[in-house]
Amino acid sequence: MYLIPISAFADNYLWLLHDGKRALVVDPGDAAPVLHALAQSALQLESILVTHHHADHTGGVDALRKATGAKVYGPATERIPAPFEPLHEGDSVHTLGLDFQVLDVPGHTAGHIAFYTPDMDGKPLLFCGDTLFSGGCGRLFEGTPAQMLASLDKLAALPGATRVCCAHEYTLGNLRFALAVEPGNTDLAAYQQHCIGLRDQGQPTLPSSIAQEILINPFLRTRQAPLVAAVRRFDASIHDDTTVFAALRQWKNQFK
Ligand code: ZN
Ligand code: FE
Repeated sequence: MYLIPISAFADNYLWLLHDGKRALVVDPGDAAPVLHALAQSALQLESILVTHHHADHTGGVDALRKATGAKVYGPATERIPAPFEPLHEGDSVHTLGLDFQVLDVPGHTAGHIAFYTPDMDGKPLLFCGDTLFSGGCGRLFEGTPAQMLASLDKLAALPGATRVCCAHEYTLGNLRFALAVEPGNTDLAAYQQHCIGLRDQGQPTLPSSIAQEILINPFLRTRQAPLVAAVRRFDASIHDDTTVFAALRQWKNQFK
């Protein structure tokens, strides 16, 4: 299988997965670069997976569906601008010979879902949209901090080897913030150097992995003592997991 991040807009990745003949795409905010990639490798688009309703994730869905006949799958409780099969947690999508499980991960949007398969070429794979980024997480546009924390806990519980396909290249900015929160995290400093090297060569920093994110992503580390201490200096009123998470998200929102 081939796993390819197609760049779109300023910093989106439209993930293309294919076996040399059949393909799926995740969150195609724009149809043109996907059609170009399909034509280049003579691929038949079989499925379009949508994680949430934002235009940078759905803008190309209907054009792609009409051009290719691909079937569209999306979150049951969100509005997607094309006919689609509505999915809830517990549903699965069978495509390209793979079995994707649907996870509810509300927070960035109210009905956001993620797609997880335990075995793609022998290792797990996650498409998480705008819920989890490398070194960060999505903004809380529709959900509560408690919802987002529960969603991230669900993703953090996946196997460490899970490849994490995020929908934006936000990594270097996220790591700058992460180091401001945890300046003593040596894994984080090493990962930042690694990612700077990738970006200097024009390479994506993704996919990441769950094991990597648990070591370096402050939003997956909100119960670690050094992190709680740092957040308390930002907001002295924190008193439980949810308020630590909420204050950390607030700190990131205003970080420059
Ligand atoms: Zn979004
Ligand atoms: Fe987005």
